[in-house]
Amino acid sequence: MTRKESEAELGMCSNITRRDFLNGVAITLGAAMLPSSDLLAQEAGPDSSAQEYFLSKGITQQDPTYYPPALTGMRGSHPGSFEVAHSLRDGHRWSEAGTDEESYDLIVVGGGISGLAAAYFFRQAAGAKAKILILDNHDDFGGHAKRNEFRAGDRLLLGYGGTQSIEAPGRYSKVASGLLKELGIDTQKFYKYYDRKLFESMNLKSATFFDKETFGKDVLWPHMIVGFDETFFGSTNLTPEIVAQIPIDEVARKDLLRLQREAVDYFPDLDPQQTRLKLMKTSYKDFLLQVAKVHPDVVKVFQSSTHDLYCVGIDAVSALACRGTGYPGFRGLKPTTRRSATAGSEEEGEEPYIFHFPDGNASVARLLVRSLIPECAPGHTMEDIVTAKINYARLDNPQNNVRIRLNSTVVAAKHVGDPSNAKEVEVTYVLAGQAHKLRGAHCVMACYNCIVPYLCPEMPEKQKEALVYAVKQPLVYTNVQIRNWTSFQKLGIRYIYAPGSYFCSTTLDFPVSLGDYKFPSSPEESCLLHLVRTPCSPGLPCKDQFRAGRYELLSTPFDTFERKIRDQLGRMLGAGGFDPAKDIQAITVNRWPHGYAYEYNQLFEPVDRPPSERPCVIGRQPFGRITIANSDSDGHAYTNIAIDQGYRAVQEALSGKPSRQGS
Ligand SMILES: Cc1cc2nc3c(=O)[nH]c(=O)nc-3n(C[C@H](O)[C@H](O)[C@H](O)COP(=O)(O)OP(=O)(O)OC[C@H]3O[C@@H](n4cnc5c(N)ncnc54)[C@H](O)[C@@H]3O)c2cc1C
Repeated sequence: MTRKESEAELGMCSNITRRDFLNGVAITLGAAMLPSSDLLAQEAGPDSSAQEYFLSKGITQQDPTYYPPALTGMRGSHPGSFEVAHSLRDGHRWSEAGTDEESYDLIVVGGGISGLAAAYFFRQAAGAKAKILILDNHDDFGGHAKRNEFRAGDRLLLGYGGTQSIEAPGRYSKVASGLLKELGIDTQKFYKYYDRKLFESMNLKSATFFDKETFGKDVLWPHMIVGFDETFFGSTNLTPEIVAQIPIDEVARKDLLRLQREAVDYFPDLDPQQTRLKLMKTSYKDFLLQVAKVHPDVVKVFQSSTHDLYCVGIDAVSALACRGTGYPGFRGLKPTTRRSATAGSEEEGEEPYIFHFPDGNASVARLLVRSLIPECAPGHTMEDIVTAKINYARLDNPQNNVRIRLNSTVVAAKHVGDPSNAKEVEVTYVLAGQAHKLRGAHCVMACYNCIVPYLCPEMPEKQKEALVYAVKQPLVYTNVQIRNWTSFQKLGIRYIYAPGSYFCSTTLDFPVSLGDYKFPSSPEESCLLHLVRTPCSPGLPCKDQFRAGRYELLSTPFDTFERKIRDQLGRMLGAGGFDPAKDIQAITVNRWPHGYAYEYNQLFEPVDRPPSERPCVIGRQPFGRITIANSDSDGHAYTNIAIDQGYRAVQEALSGKPSRQGS
């Protein structure tokens, strides 16, 4: 098949015009404030960046037409956001920077939730007159907390480009839950806003798609192999009849049933602690093949079921972790924790996975920004923030004490004098190719921790080594706007796990309505699908998989994603009448080469290392007037951690001492 024919088959040429995508930079028509005639006239080069796009039009952050959430195409770490940082890594220096006439009480590097929270806590402690500047390299604030907007006629559709939900808010620290409260977020309200009955009332379940490249033929199997949280994934009790529909070897089918049913203690000579250690240092893949001795086809079935959570497959996730999340094969083993078989249920006090704003935790970031700069958006509730339009032109207003400057990559932070008694830090950042210098009495590094040694080369070697130890976990969150979701209704599904496919999961958006925002609850309505890809290289140690994945993400053009989306959705949903050419209306690919904070994978990390000796703890020590935040600084990829670490960094800045807070 020629490229042209295959494009036609996938509907590449129809419905979504090139004008919509502009090679990876597109504006949701109707939502953008740019006139569409401008779009028609615009022809950007391959993978041109949103930043370049805005700049080529003479549109800066100060321009009233600047509105990044409405951009579709390649988002997340969009072209234009990372090149300056990468050239710093490769040895480029910006000695030509002049000194700007600006000085601040606090300069925050990184406008994600941690950086925004740090600004919030600093202002709370230092008073409303404190002058604070937040610098971020992306064209939008929020870091991973990214809002994606779409339009279906007059209707606004909201998606999340990164951070999805407030997970288990009951376990948030006093600081993090206190901040949510001060921002007006009452998580109890999600019990009303999240329609937990909708999909159930339509009898929509989770399914598994076995692709022909991996399993010999395409099969949409209307069951889930792993019983995760019922509110989201669903589960199934396997029977021989159900298993017979899976396109794998007959022996593998029997092994699947055996895994689910048998209660064998594979380690009769080990006590519970030794069993725990054994499972911790054995991957689930090895457990299946070498301990439970299943047919290799069973591994293919489970391989990418851990991608969403760990960004690697079962070859790089411990059997202990899989045991804790309900994988089969462990029924006969000695208990390794006091968790009962039903732990995790709501009856046991575990919170459901429902604390979700339509744009994910971008709403948390937007509430922080509205609190820091009230004039940038109307309203004051958790409901009205969802549809409030941020006026980006007001974010960096010289009249305000708090300012947010986007498209600005920090390339150096140096004390003015000896770090032990300096009164100021000089910060250099690059905006539109120009280097600028500023001064701050304090500087919080809320950026990826691995870049800090490049910004502060005079830090102690041990600290720099610790900061680059972690490798962030790459992944892609893709939002696809579809004309309607009748195909899901016809097929009786809402979530698809696809163990061999490009995207490991596809799901209908969360059914959440709040304020003026209404979830498109009729299948006839246009809605968003959420697809996840985790670029792994099975078999390598996890950090090497992350490095390879990052490279893959940065070198994959938007075109490839679009092609894969059309192909996969067409094959999975075709039997329900889905036609990619007619049904796909817009695509936003949020790629995160530096995604989740590195989470100290127990399979590859020393077991006897005390928490205080984790590299993230050594790396986050204050250095003169520079303190270190970001979820990286506690090795957990969560919103509450980002907040806690922002708080700790501010306490350290104000007290001049390391803080144990957030350990
Ligand atoms: C796809 C995805 C899904 C997630 N889902 C969830 C979820 O459901 N729930 C949850 O609790 N957590 C989730 N997380 C984890 C998420 O990372 C944290 O919740 C939180 O948003 C991290 O915030 P942060 O401020 O620490 O880091 P970030 O959001 O990464 O913010 C750091 C910012 O600093 C910027 N920066 C880096 N270097 C520089 C520089 N030199 N100059 C200027 N700026 C710089 C970065 O580009 C970025 O914008 C998810 C993460 C990802 C990637």
